[in-house]
Amino acid sequence: MENIILRCLQCNELFYPTPYDFYPSYEFEDKDILKEIKHNDLGDFKNYHNGHKIEELQVVNGSFFSHYAYWEPVREDYLQITDGSEFYTVRRWRKYISEPLRYQIVNFDIICSEPILEIQSIDLEKQMIADADRFRFTKTNIKRFIKLFKTFVSHLELDNMVECGFSVNDPRVSYAKLKDEVRETFLNHYSYKFSANDIRNLRVFISENSEYDDVINIQIVRPFYLKPLSKSFNTINTQSTSSPKYSENMLNKFWNIH
Ligand SMILES: [Zn+2]
Repeated sequence: MENIILRCLQCNELFYPTPYDFYPSYEFEDKDILKEIKHNDLGDFKNYHNGHKIEELQVVNGSFFSHYAYWEPVREDYLQITDGSEFYTVRRWRKYISEPLRYQIVNFDIICSEPILEIQSIDLEKQMIADADRFRFTKTNIKRFIKLFKTFVSHLELDNMVECGFSVNDPRVSYAKLKDEVRETFLNHYSYKFSANDIRNLRVFISENSEYDDVINIQIVRPFYLKPLSKSFNTINTQSTSSPKYSENMLNKFWNIH
């Protein structure tokens, strides 16, 4: 039942089954006596909708859209589900920390804007200053390198890099390292701006700071917005045109919030 959402067609209510549905809760019966309350949320859903037609919808892989950090319990997210032919946008939210996450099909499409590529200028400068003695970076060279790197990255495409990390604070943000041949293109293209020794040191600095969200890695921001659908969600032709843009591990993070 992984990444399956149940939908009662009669009531149009959604339920996302998880192992947490059977976890007991506890409350004080008396002053010091803790009472265990058993739960079966899936059973409750099925009992409530007994005799109604229930369908299983698959969560579209990579379709997680949110402005909220993964660790925030009070939140509002969007995802897409499908019955194999039609696609629906689902809002998942919780207003209070004590309440369960709720799911609802909404009459919006999720539209992804073009990814924005940025360098991590401030952290990059700090790291270069910290390593200045080791690599013989001068203040002038640090400023020149950051300026040229920023210009170079502004002309790159996603194909020029490999995504290798994501932000825990913003699901729209991920990090990517330059492909080796792209890094060499950069160093060769600007070799006339530095000494041969500087270029060697820059190559080492770049390769030492290219893991996960390290300072040389490119920050990729993927903005999205919700566009009202002209037709209601339960009519035909609601298939989303937006393609999933998020990686598997982000989706796994998403499902771990319960
Ligand atoms: Zn029902």
